[in-house]
Amino acid sequence: MDASIEVAGLRKRFGATVALDGLSFTVTAGQVTGFVGPNGAGKSTTMRVIVGLDAADEGSATIGGRPYASLRHPLSHLGTLLDAAALQPSRSGRNHLLWLAHSQGLGAKRVDDVIEQAGLQSAARRKAGGYSLGMRQRLGLAAALLGDPAVLMLDEPFNGLDPEGIVWMRGFLRALAAEGRAVLVSSHLMSELQDTATHLVVIGRGQLVADAGVAELIAAASGGRVTLRTAARS
Ligand code: ADP
Ligand code: MG
Repeated sequence: MDASIEVAGLRKRFGATVALDGLSFTVTAGQVTGFVGPNGAGKSTTMRVIVGLDAADEGSATIGGRPYASLRHPLSHLGTLLDAAALQPSRSGRNHLLWLAHSQGLGAKRVDDVIEQAGLQSAARRKAGGYSLGMRQRLGLAAALLGDPAVLMLDEPFNGLDPEGIVWMRGFLRALAAEGRAVLVSSHLMSELQDTATHLVVIGRGQLVADAGVAELIAAASGGRVTLRTAARS
């Protein structure tokens, strides 16, 4: 499957609020694309539109050229982490994953693979109700990986993580992209993404501000030749 995400001319209003104002960008497979913008810029709305949780007023969002809803097995190919995994606190993380795997026709081997990939080994057999935020998040990541998704979208995955968790998350995201997946990661802090992503899509007020390689953006900004904003409009 061609895993690239194509967002074309998205517009979305909530009453008088213009959340997305003609937004277009592409997320290429095999790299981490950072999705940056201040709170309220429209990052979460964009992700919700991509997976059909919000309907756009105009424009389109496709994955491998097709709308998310038309994908034959969307849940087995696409992991999204828009919301925390629905959890029963008395169930261990591993049992939660076994239950999810069963509903997707997958077995225990796959569960143990994703537990390792998400770095959940030490917590997997403990009750999920006692998990820290970081461990809950890893459980959500493990759940998203069960179906070996070609595309992962993570909305503010650095939120609430301690420094060690942030370092782990960076490596985790890069490893997923190195496996050929398209990885779209949002943050309101450029600093969280500049060492993780190879490409940045920067938005403000629902519009594209910059769309370029990280190295290119940093060179442009530090050279003082172009600001991010003029870089985007040129
Ligand atoms: P971000 O994720 O970048 O912080 P959002 O996509 O959450 O931004 O929000 C973009 C804009 O749309 C904000 O002004 C926000 O208040 C508004 N918005 C988002 N979702 C809703 C909603 N369900 N109802 C009304 N306004 C919304
Ligand atoms: Mg958001």
